[in-house]
Amino acid sequence: MQYHSTRGTAPVLDFEGAMLAGLARDGGLYVPGEIPQMSREDIAALATLPYEEIALRVMLPFTGMSEERLGDLIAKAYGGFGHTARAPLVQLSQGHFLLELFHGPTLAFKDFAMQLIGQLFQDAMSRRGDRITIVGATSGDTGSAAIEAFRGLDAVECFILFPHGRVSDVQRRQMTTPVEENVHALALDGHFDDCQAAVKDMFNDHAFRDRVGLTAVNSINWARVLAQVVYFFSAATSLGAPHREVDVTVPTGNFGDIFAGYIARSMGLPIRRLIIATNSNDILHRTFETGDHRKEGVQPTISPSMDIEVSSNFERALFMAHDRDGAAVTRMMAELKAQGGFTISDNAMAELRSIYGSGRASEDETMATIRRLHETTGEILCPHSAVGVKVAEEHLSDCPMITLATAHPAKFPDAVTEATGLHPALPERMVDLFDRPERQTRVANDLDALKTLIEGRL
Ligand SMILES: *Cc1c(COP(=O)(O)O)cnc(C)c1O
Repeated sequence: MQYHSTRGTAPVLDFEGAMLAGLARDGGLYVPGEIPQMSREDIAALATLPYEEIALRVMLPFTGMSEERLGDLIAKAYGGFGHTARAPLVQLSQGHFLLELFHGPTLAFKDFAMQLIGQLFQDAMSRRGDRITIVGATSGDTGSAAIEAFRGLDAVECFILFPHGRVSDVQRRQMTTPVEENVHALALDGHFDDCQAAVKDMFNDHAFRDRVGLTAVNSINWARVLAQVVYFFSAATSLGAPHREVDVTVPTGNFGDIFAGYIARSMGLPIRRLIIATNSNDILHRTFETGDHRKEGVQPTISPSMDIEVSSNFERALFMAHDRDGAAVTRMMAELKAQGGFTISDNAMAELRSIYGSGRASEDETMATIRRLHETTGEILCPHSAVGVKVAEEHLSDCPMITLATAHPAKFPDAVTEATGLHPALPERMVDLFDRPERQTRVANDLDALKTLIEGRL
């Protein structure tokens, strides 16, 4: 399988190359040169299989790996999940189902991608007899998923920068309590933006980058998107696909999760529509209403993992909707940078609207949804999942609806307690999280000191 950049000029790479590169050299994102197809029979056969087996059949054609090797890595990736179904489906109301993606080690859907990418990196580097250094910035969820995924892998050294005092207690402890020496939680004196700027600077310092073998695992990495394709298959086949269509609503920020749904649909899975659910940072919803993609500034909300204005993976959807025209995508991205937005052509907009729908939930609507769902079903939603449920309810029809529940309510206890009066409990396997010793390094917002610290630890 070959991978092409959405900007059209970077070298074509194979799966491992695209995974190790992350971002393409021309600033674009890698997409598969063609999308492997699954027949109705192939899809029907998934309905009775365990999650790991579905993962193998769905991902194998994208990777060029042997069945045995990929199967082995998948088994290691999902063995630590707290639910045998990995991504169980529960019913909310007539025709409306919740796909629980929060049974991984850090209680958010990012574990599905990060646990697998940890295994893929370890496998690739140990075969090359090489090591890599991962440096990432986090506002909470991505960093904890990364530390959990890379802990104890000997070909990887992992440094995560988080803003000191600005992540939740659960998020911080998930980063600071792993005991393995190859993972490093760095509490930076500053904001999330300072953490992100520091990481960006390190990548721009090419000498440093080469010396330490710097690699990123941010949400544009193709391997992360691929891992997320799997649960669209497991959920839709449990509800009768390929014999019955489904709609899917996805709480959306960087567009990675919903783009995985688009890949599943393009492979032949009968998803009728993919509904984008945004919080009040609704640039994507406005784009679908008006055809104009324009920044207006980001407001902090109770669903912080969706507080995004530059939705990186939307570039992949634009590339597909423009018949893989890299020059057209390059123009739009230049306009976004220079003028804060761009207008999408009528043709491309019609194509996008035939695949995606959209909706938004305000802060009040999100809180009201958490409260109402608890009263009517007993289900406790995290704020991100509640945004999804609210928007999905506006799109219910005679076609079954699946809404993705992206995080466990115990990860966002303040909003949940305010809405329901209940304090959501951590799953039993994590109740000692608050008793485990923490290990973190406080660092100043000083790039040179940070680089020295990282090189000193290698
Ligand atoms: C990352 C995240 C999202 C947004 O997913 P994207 O792939 O960025 O669209 C939604 N909910 C939670 C809890 C997340 O951590």
